[in-house]
Amino acid sequence: MSAADQAPVLIVGAGLAGASCARRLAGRGVPVRVIDRAGEPGGRIASPQLNGRRVDIGASYFTVSDPGFERVVSRWQSSGLARAWTDTFDVFGPQGFLDHSKGPMRWTAAHGLQSLVSAELGGIEVRVASEATAVHDRDGLQVDAAPASAVVLAMPDPQAARLLPAVGPLGRLRGSLNVDFDPVIATVLGWPERNWPFTDGAFVNDDERISFVADDGARRGDRAPVLVVHSTASLARTHADDPEAALADVCSALREVFGIRQAASWRQSHRWETAKPAEAHARLFGWHELGVGVAGDAWCPQGRPRMESAWLSGTALADHIADHIGY
Ligand SMILES: Cc1cc2nc3c(=O)[nH]c(=O)nc-3n(C[C@H](O)[C@H](O)[C@H](O)COP(=O)(O)OP(=O)(O)OC[C@H]3O[C@@H](n4cnc5c(N)ncnc54)[C@H](O)[C@@H]3O)c2cc1C
Repeated sequence: MSAADQAPVLIVGAGLAGASCARRLAGRGVPVRVIDRAGEPGGRIASPQLNGRRVDIGASYFTVSDPGFERVVSRWQSSGLARAWTDTFDVFGPQGFLDHSKGPMRWTAAHGLQSLVSAELGGIEVRVASEATAVHDRDGLQVDAAPASAVVLAMPDPQAARLLPAVGPLGRLRGSLNVDFDPVIATVLGWPERNWPFTDGAFVNDDERISFVADDGARRGDRAPVLVVHSTASLARTHADDPEAALADVCSALREVFGIRQAASWRQSHRWETAKPAEAHARLFGWHELGVGVAGDAWCPQGRPRMESAWLSGTALADHIADHIGY
């Protein structure tokens, strides 16, 4: 079948899973169309401009273990986008410093992690501010009124489930989307100068309010005096309607755990409703033979859901679709 003969594969969601899926399909000659309801691509990899510079308010860093993902990261690195950040974070508890924790190399991006999603998309256009509301197969496969040769829902299970019918063949796919996600409030705080007792970042153990703090200036390499604090899921649930209301708890945790007493000169909060999968699927993607696939970080048979698992899931689903529709 020639590319001109068929409707495109419609990819809903331009996070890293959707971007990697689009890139792999386009690389195999399959026509794609990508839409996202947000104002720009990236999803949970988000680096908005705050107080004059990009700040990573979603994913903090990424790790690399898969050889295919490693090749992509090498490409990002040689084009000056990705950079190795650190293999060591500090660990703090209620009584202060506990330990240095060495782990895998954590990678970050000179212009914010969101730039990597744009790099992965290459020249593939994303129609932003475009929300899909329903996938159906009444008169051929369609997303709302747009025909598609296949559909990719590259997003967390609760968001994908909302787009699928409750009954009929696609209802079975919907029924398999059973991974719950935990919320996180990310609070960005800026000071006139750097003044905290850790380098790069710190895990916080046994605190009901905060779980991780990243030094955004160390992460970016510009030494800006900016921290990004991730709440626990329970604090985010407490402040479901008003993330700014978590600020008092976040500031008291910074004071008690790290001894940071000086009030921040500026701050901003963002609540991620579906931040992190609470568990994972045992497969790389979901699929229904009508031509509907689901991808994302929760499709993670090995290790914990993360940026790498989103990339792997989108790529594996793309290969499956290209084989399915005969490319
Ligand atoms: C606070 C936080 C910290 C994190 N820390 C790390 C970390 O340190 N390391 C790491 O590896 N990972 C981390 N992650 C996880 C990482 O961000 C995700 O694994 C990855 O970004 C998931 O990508 P995705 O493409 O699967 O989903 P998403 O990024 O969620 O993309 C889904 C996209 O679908 C779009 N969408 C949804 N519904 C519709 C619709 N109806 N119509 C159109 N578009 C729609 C959304 O707008 C979104 O752009 C973190 C995440 C958060 C939130």
